Amino acid sequence: MPSDRRVDTDLGGVDRVGAGSGATHGFGPATAGASSAPRFAPFGPMLRQAVADGYAVAAFNVYDLATFRAAVAVAKQTGAPVILALGERYFSLMRPRTAVALLRSLLAEAGAIPAGAIPASAIPASSGPVVGLHLDHAASPEHCLEAIEAGFSSVMIDASHLPFEENVRVTRAVVEAAHARGVGVEAELGGIAAGDASHEFSTGTEALTDPDQAAAFVAATGVDALAVSVGTVHGLYRGDPHIDLPRLQAIRARVDVPLVLHGGSGTPADLLSAAIGRGVAKVNVNTEVALAAVRRIAEAVAAKPKTHLSELTGIAEAAAREVMADYIARFRWRGGTGRGATGPSEGRASGEAGR
Ligand SMILES: [Zn+2]
Repeated sequence: MPSDRRVDTDLGGVDRVGAGSGATHGFGPATAGASSAPRFAPFGPMLRQAVADGYAVAAFNVYDLATFRAAVAVAKQTGAPVILALGERYFSLMRPRTAVALLRSLLAEAGAIPAGAIPASAIPASSGPVVGLHLDHAASPEHCLEAIEAGFSSVMIDASHLPFEENVRVTRAVVEAAHARGVGVEAELGGIAAGDASHEFSTGTEALTDPDQAAAFVAATGVDALAVSVGTVHGLYRGDPHIDLPRLQAIRARVDVPLVLHGGSGTPADLLSAAIGRGVAKVNVNTEVALAAVRRIAEAVAAKPKTHLSELTGIAEAAAREVMADYIARFRWRGGTGRGATGPSEGRASGEAGR
């Protein structure tokens, strides 16, 4: 870890909103006159709030200007909390420090924070929608440390390919480093199958998460959220989408931290809703957002072969926003009150944080 501990210490400030505490959280129902612009928020409270209120937070993979802009815009548009997730595999495109600077700048542009600052002290405790910045699927503890130092609100250490005891050891070390800086940690137990357009390994039923092992893992590591393998796949489903709901229920009964579902792309709304009712508080979506943007770019270029490169960002952003908003609508988020519900979605996507 770099010796300069003062580099981008924003998360220390953000954490004082309540990242490491139990019941308190740094956001909630908007107050009259509050800004509807998204602001930066800690991981644990964000997910615990989602569990308490019966919705899931959308985590969208980001790796370029179009995806960052789309995610911030959709948070503002819907009023829903949104996690921007930069995967380790995208480090060749953007390092964590750049991601923090970019998000900080976009939030300032959106009027959420003073320019150049994220600290919680500068942010009203009960203003509008919130965003998180998350490191997705890092097999490398060093990359986790890089994101922690840069000012991410959470990191995912993925040592799920290692034997159980090794997974515990690696994950626990990252938890200690992260919590010392007020940063949340997600880890994974079990293996998530690889669907179409995924680079993950293929797996059988033996990689589904074992409920008893999950309980032992959470107790031994102190993670803030656990990614589970219950039938969703990375990429696109090759067969019918399936979630092992009894297994999810059994995990939920033994594990008291919010659960994370990877491979949200292509999962029908009714299955997602059933999973959210069983402790899932964060759902990752990557593939469908990316494919929609590429499809729209391909159409634009086919229609106008001399399309200027500068137009492609806007085209990709618009397509990404549409898919992101559609997924948020599947995650039982219902409007600016911060409450999940099964009733009509009046007020959602109003652009207003007030009720
Ligand atoms: Zn994943």
